[in-house]
Amino acid sequence: MTRIGIIGGSGLEALLKGTRIVRVGTPYGPAPWISVGSVGKEEVAFLPRHGPKHDLPPHKVNYRANIHALKQIGVERIIATNAVGGINSEYNPGDLSIPDDIIDMTKSRTTTFFDSSPVTHIDFSQPYCPELRKALLDSSKGSKVKMWNTSVLAATEGPRYETPAEIRMLEKLGGDLVGMTGAPETFLARELEMCYATLCFISNRAAGKQAKLSAVEVMDIGKRLMPEIVAIIRKTAESIPVKRTCNCGRATHEAQV
Ligand SMILES: [Zn+2]
Repeated sequence: MTRIGIIGGSGLEALLKGTRIVRVGTPYGPAPWISVGSVGKEEVAFLPRHGPKHDLPPHKVNYRANIHALKQIGVERIIATNAVGGINSEYNPGDLSIPDDIIDMTKSRTTTFFDSSPVTHIDFSQPYCPELRKALLDSSKGSKVKMWNTSVLAATEGPRYETPAEIRMLEKLGGDLVGMTGAPETFLARELEMCYATLCFISNRAAGKQAKLSAVEVMDIGKRLMPEIVAIIRKTAESIPVKRTCNCGRATHEAQV
């Protein structure tokens, strides 16, 4: 049974041993190829968010197909990774964070599976699974990299970077981090009663806080931090109890009108 799914960019395949490729169709279109392999005793799935060739920009990712495909192969817990900018001036490029809240500022994405009757309103008082967040935080103890254990992620549309005025606005709204892929993944996962948490790596200071932003800088920091990210996710996959004790598996209870 593949209970744990990972969504992220290239480099994370290194986690898996004895990998096989799984193709899954969904009512929302095909998902990218999913790699399934072992991490210790655990069978784990890896889904490349932007496709295997990284040719899907953030606003064109088929988020519903990705989450639905992982659900179909039995995934109950999703560990995501996101490259983000650090709005909070205490955060430095090269730091990690596991956000506990999110502001969705995306514009063109379908953010729900519940498009028709029965009208369904899911609770997002805790936007990320507390159990999975704790497992990631526990697994990062002893890491050489600075970890911020609570933060608010502001999700923007992309693919362009934000303007300085947009960053000042997000900062006033309480955003600590900014990235283009945080939403709607966490919402869709909860709607399908899956646990979801994300390990964010801070790859720049946000617009207006450094001279300019570059995708090359983001890739370089991602590569530098990848061994640390892989180690934290491996430890989490190996240590998290099989049985879930959070409420994510009952998300649709008492949610329908
Ligand atoms: Zn959960």
